[in-house]
Amino acid sequence: MAAIVIDGKAAAARVRAEVAEGVAAFAARYGRAPGLVGIQVGDDPASELYQAGKARAAEEAGMVPRRITLPDSTGQAELDALIDELNADDAVDGMLVQLPVPDQLSEPLIANRIHPDKDVDGFSPVNLGRLMRGEPGNVPCTPQGVMRMLRDAEVPLVGAHAVVVGRSLIVGKPQSMLLLAEHCTVTVAHSRTRDLPSLCRTADILVAAVGRPEMIRGDWVKPGAAVMDVGINRTDDGLRGDVAYAECAEVAGWITPVPGGVGPMTIAYLLANTLDAAHRRAGATT
Ligand code: NDP
Repeated sequence: MAAIVIDGKAAAARVRAEVAEGVAAFAARYGRAPGLVGIQVGDDPASELYQAGKARAAEEAGMVPRRITLPDSTGQAELDALIDELNADDAVDGMLVQLPVPDQLSEPLIANRIHPDKDVDGFSPVNLGRLMRGEPGNVPCTPQGVMRMLRDAEVPLVGAHAVVVGRSLIVGKPQSMLLLAEHCTVTVAHSRTRDLPSLCRTADILVAAVGRPEMIRGDWVKPGAAVMDVGINRTDDGLRGDVAYAECAEVAGWITPVPGGVGPMTIAYLLANTLDAAHRRAGATT
């Protein structure tokens, strides 16, 4: 039987509609809309596209977006000064620095500098610590999107074996913590994992966050499993996920396509995080 295709565009539209409603209620109560600032260093075309997409989505949700583009040569001290200024700005509820940044800048220094309450990407040590501790905080957007898709599709989570392929700070690691919090038994795989195909075949939930086009093959998938493809790979044949979609869809119980799967959820949860951050900040001052 063919897999149920989890439609990420529809799921993201639902999240964005919920956020828009929440933004209207926030504005009615506090007399201002949540503010989201995107900082970009340099003019990388992909970053440009992502930043424009985030600003447009924030505007559509009724937020106040702001884009700041700094020259490629910007030094750490200059960027720190800007972050400090935005940390102190009451109109700013969320900010993010588009990654990757030029070599002279340090991603860990940036993650440490942004105030944890405004770190809507959820990459700061404080927010990652909160995630590990199970405390409220900003949780990285893409893994949150995957969880929402699993919940909406009613994929059984309690006691399920989840295999997360990839251990990055922005996807694999936080994904594994979120699955664990939902009582999955979690295995995190990476480039040194032995016999990845056999391991994947034991997964009830298989999350691929690798960055290698179509690496996960149909015969790596346990019949009936939920296959969540985070990968976004630009190939000569167009955009491809980390999962060989057609093969895997024949075996899986649920599957996310690329494009139109997990991708749209990332921006949706950036907006959700910004609204949550605005509420936390407003709650702290009223
Ligand atoms: P990283 O490059 O930071 O991490 C990739 C992970 O995959 C690493 O842990 C690496 O292992 C592992 N890996 C690499 N090769 C293999 C292999 N042959 N077998 C098993 N594991 C392997 O990538 P990201 O986590 O940032 O992104 C992963 C993918 O998700 C990319 O395609 C990216 O474009 C996409 N992405 C999509 C988003 C969305 O909005 N949908 C958001 C963020 C990312 P090791 O640690 O050992 O090197």
